[in-house]
Amino acid sequence: MHELDASTARIEVQTLLQHVLQVPRAYLLAHPEQVPEAKQQAAYDAILQRRLQGEPIAYLLGEREFFGLNLKVTPATLIPRPDTELLVELALQRVPQNKVCRVLDLGTGSGAIALAIAHSRPGAAVTAIDAAEAALQVARENARRLGIANVVFQRSDWFAALNGQRFDLIVSNPPYVATGDRHLVRGDVRFEPRSALVSGEDGLDDIRRIVSQTESYLEREAWLLLEHGYDQAARVRGIFQQYGFGEIFSAKDIAGIDRVSGGVKLR
Ligand code: GLN
Repeated sequence: MHELDASTARIEVQTLLQHVLQVPRAYLLAHPEQVPEAKQQAAYDAILQRRLQGEPIAYLLGEREFFGLNLKVTPATLIPRPDTELLVELALQRVPQNKVCRVLDLGTGSGAIALAIAHSRPGAAVTAIDAAEAALQVARENARRLGIANVVFQRSDWFAALNGQRFDLIVSNPPYVATGDRHLVRGDVRFEPRSALVSGEDGLDDIRRIVSQTESYLEREAWLLLEHGYDQAARVRGIFQQYGFGEIFSAKDIAGIDRVSGGVKLR
């Protein structure tokens, strides 16, 4: 059991209570004298027990904010992380405001990246694929709830179902954790889908697969941008190099860690 620091724990219990009582935070703070009904108390006890067993708060609440969008999340999807907003920002720099740009998001999960790009660039035509139908259902519901209409969701194992299509930008937050990584037995990740996290001995199996197959699906001089692990930047740049990409770079996330690497297709 890993204990949270006191202020995080306090915020979490308030958030769970708000969720159970269905009241805004301001109401909760303004009514310290109010006693919950028995049914509410039981519901709160149950959800608190689940949190104490380690279940991620995002799954208990069923939602998580990403890039200003409130997204539904379930155990079928990875929980969107603030680190990944870097990938969205780098993508948006490459999606013109007033021109159709065909963007592909590989392994969309809850739809976070695709929906953030589509929302910020209403003129973009975004395709989002995932191999898991359960994740696609969540992503489609998020698009519906948010009223975002410029994303098409499709079931595909990486590029397998995209024959003949070409894109002006491809982005992905693929699984990139190594099989034996010690982080997998701690915290939220224990409850997240393994298929969204783990990618072979060195964590780079899917990144190698994506970079090696991208050529046929990307326009010339268009970008491929990939999120990766904290210690993988040099190796990911090496993979881009191996497959003939140019302008290869890495960029730092909010924690100052090289978190996204990219390159342009030259030929
Ligand atoms: N950033 C996640 C983690 O460290 C991993 C996400 C992924 O594999 N795409 O838990």
